[in-house]
Amino acid sequence: ERRQLNRLRREPTRTLDGIDIKLWANAESREDVTEAHALGAAGVGLYRTEFLFLGSSVLPDEEAQFRAYRDAVLAMTGRTVTIRTLDLGADKADKTGLALRDEPNPALGLRGVRLSLARQELLRTQLRAIARASGYGPVRVLVPMVSGGEELRAVRRLLDEVLRELRAQGLETAPQLPLGAMIEVPAAALALGAFVGQCDFLSIGTNDLVQYLLAVDRTHEALGELYTPLHPAVLRVLRDVVRIGQRRGRPVTVCGEMAADPRLVPLLLALGLTELSLHPATLLEVRQAIRQCDLGRLRAAAPALLRARQRAAIEDWVAAWLPEAP
Ligand code: PEP
Ligand code: MG
Repeated sequence: ERRQLNRLRREPTRTLDGIDIKLWANAESREDVTEAHALGAAGVGLYRTEFLFLGSSVLPDEEAQFRAYRDAVLAMTGRTVTIRTLDLGADKADKTGLALRDEPNPALGLRGVRLSLARQELLRTQLRAIARASGYGPVRVLVPMVSGGEELRAVRRLLDEVLRELRAQGLETAPQLPLGAMIEVPAAALALGAFVGQCDFLSIGTNDLVQYLLAVDRTHEALGELYTPLHPAVLRVLRDVVRIGQRRGRPVTVCGEMAADPRLVPLLLALGLTELSLHPATLLEVRQAIRQCDLGRLRAAAPALLRARQRAAIEDWVAAWLPEAP
């Protein structure tokens, strides 16, 4: 079974009817990047920089961050690395003391881009390290917990400033870095039309999006059953974000856990997604599932999926399109 899957390392991620799907990898360690490359990922779709900040009371300085980002870029040999700016908050174990302690609602608190904009010297250091890494291969910048255009504009301004500064210092960078927004706050999804023009690409973070849409804590064990992407509201938001992205020529990726579940591949393709980003652990399973899909048939089955009024009906749809196990 494993051997069967391993053969897929060098196979294209292509549907039965010949449509190429872009399979990116999520990475939260150096090893993940190496593995992503070995599995033939199209690039790194989500490089979670938190791992450089957690587990130590000393903040990584510009040099330490630069080396980590540059090594990831070099390891991907010309494939794009999407580096997410720090998504730290009281919801993550944090020894650095950056995040506020004892926030009453950490998931609704000072996290992600909010923390980065509140501590701009940190964001500047991180953007300098990312921009310097872009001198070694293609890099995109992804901003977490965006709720509207203002935050993105603020990050863009700082990024432009940093690029000018680095060039004045004689350091090599890409001329421009694509800047994208995580779509994981419902307001960002609902108001996307107002700021999609500022985004070079979009990445849907379904882990948080589901949590906020359904008002269900993603870490709360007693609520486990309620936490599901198979809710009509979630599907509708996914479809709408994909449509806006398509209409405005902005690539859209799903980088939350649901993209790592081979059983949900037909559903995501039916909703119009053509790019997924997931941890290397199940990348080959997902590639295998995609290779069993007929995109034409799935798109034709999308209206029935979107008409489903409750979870059970969505589960039935998923069961009817289940890919064969490897
Ligand atoms: C998400 O929210 O779906 C996501 C990919 O980011 P994280 O899990 O790091 O919050
Ligand atoms: Mg998130």
